[in-house]
Amino acid sequence: MNNSNTAIEKFRQEFRSKNIPAYYIGWVHFMLTTVISITIIYFGIIMLDHVHGLQWLTIPLTFLYANLAEYWGHKGPMHHLRKPLQMIYQRHSKEHHVFFTDKHMPFGESRDYKAVLFPISLTVFFFGLFGSPIWFLLSWLFSSNVAWLFVVTGVAYFLNYEWFHFAYHCAEDSWVMHIPGFKKLRRLHLHHHNQKLMARYNFNITYPICDILFGTYYKD
Ligand SMILES: [Zn+2]
Ligand SMILES: [Zn+2]
Repeated sequence: MNNSNTAIEKFRQEFRSKNIPAYYIGWVHFMLTTVISITIIYFGIIMLDHVHGLQWLTIPLTFLYANLAEYWGHKGPMHHLRKPLQMIYQRHSKEHHVFFTDKHMPFGESRDYKAVLFPISLTVFFFGLFGSPIWFLLSWLFSSNVAWLFVVTGVAYFLNYEWFHFAYHCAEDSWVMHIPGFKKLRRLHLHHHNQKLMARYNFNITYPICDILFGTYYKD
């Protein structure tokens, strides 16, 4: 084992013993993230009532808004220490980026999912805190169809983020790499995990729209 392998393995062992409780099961975390998201998406869809005309624009607008939020959230608090969001910086820059580097991208075991997926409690808290006021605002300003389309698209985008990020950290011979275009997207995230590039490039995890728009797109 060379030095960098030894250092990563040491960090991973410490992280596992300090941050992953004995009861934690990686696949349960993955399934809960998926099932809760799909349930909200399903509930949002059945709340729709004869969507028409301009209301459909909510989908592309929410998609772009989510892409921007993903970009700024990642470029900002995840990579810069700012109070009171220091926990987000710690989790991302000091843990996720040390646990996984461009030379050590795949999970070592299924309990390592904890180093990639958002904690369920934090996700429910943030969606509740920021999502509910926007839902009320949109239904008051426009219509309940617009509010529910916002919820459906936003949660679908979140699940897309979690699935993609999870897949980027799967083994290189995993079946997901055969999905057309997926290897390219993974490569962008691989560059982001290069310690020399991480604070400057490839902040979009899903689709590099804002990275291209704001000049932070890096591909070899
Ligand atoms: Zn990552
Ligand atoms: Zn990052």
